Amino acid sequence: MIIVIRAHSSKEQIAEVISEVEKLGYTPAPIHGATQTVVAAIGDERTHRDLESLSALPQVESVLRVQKRFKLASRESHPADTVIDADGIQIGGGSFCMMAGPCSVESEEQIISTAEAVKASGASFLRGGAYKPRTSPYEFQGLGKVGLRFLAQAKQQTGLRIITEVLSERDVDHVAEVADVLQIGARNSQNYQLLIECAKSGKPILLKRGMSERVEEWLLAAEYILAHGNPNVILCERGIRTFETYTRNTLDLAAVAIAKQESHLPVIVDPSQGCGRADLVIALCGGAVAMGADGLIVEVHPNPKEAMSDGQQQVDFNGFQKLVASIQPFLKAVNKA
Ligand code: PEP
Ligand code: MN
Repeated sequence: MIIVIRAHSSKEQIAEVISEVEKLGYTPAPIHGATQTVVAAIGDERTHRDLESLSALPQVESVLRVQKRFKLASRESHPADTVIDADGIQIGGGSFCMMAGPCSVESEEQIISTAEAVKASGASFLRGGAYKPRTSPYEFQGLGKVGLRFLAQAKQQTGLRIITEVLSERDVDHVAEVADVLQIGARNSQNYQLLIECAKSGKPILLKRGMSERVEEWLLAAEYILAHGNPNVILCERGIRTFETYTRNTLDLAAVAIAKQESHLPVIVDPSQGCGRADLVIALCGGAVAMGADGLIVEVHPNPKEAMSDGQQQVDFNGFQKLVASIQPFLKAVNKA
């Protein structure tokens, strides 16, 4: 860290800063200019105490961080792309992964028919929430364990891998019995105790970006999982809340490019939550592929107008087939076909 000391501070004031830096375990390296002094504090900022508290001293003008706050998630620490193996399916590296299925698991017939349809169109994962984080407590909350049973059955019948959301620490073990990838939703993106519990399961984890989460915070949330011994983290951009009202969320494709640059972790895009409109999903998929995403997670329902959640943003089977066809030129352009 760099501590900038105010111009015309006395020798005693400068000595006080140097001594505080030492007390916090860093090696101080003062640089004396004509009117101003800066103190470089040498040491790992991620494992030593934060020096920002020194701003409380009147002679300190500012404290600047030099290192990134996330280490394990950074490309600096791990230059090659991480490739995750989810029950034999690779996510990241040069491959492209398609995840598709309804917002919620609603019935055996709904999930099995959707699994068959998305498989026929080329998906390798079936998505579907058995536990649903709904804004209102009066809305459909998911089928819970019954929904998980239907997902297991869909896997058995189609061979599709399963991704489903974990809402609570209480549910990690039984969701992990069925899921090949645990989904952490936007509303839980910074629920650190849940992240730690999911990390312990050893399962790959798809970490959605919170709806008002900065990229740095998102990568720090990933860092929690990595720091708890689970290297299998997939980042998922799903749109952030902005002033725009044409869309439910604003899909932040720049964040995809930033995450790919800053981190070695695979990045998946969710265009369905990303815009909240079925008519825009295809366009956003092409954009996501062009931006370098390692995969997509798309909401698909046999009959969106009867869906128990997010009907407005789900495409039907035909729509999904068109979507898969429409991204082929983009996949080819980025050498992922
Ligand atoms: C979902 O995938 O249906 C969902 C609830 O997503 P998010 O957490 O991104 O809102
Ligand atoms: Mn949804």
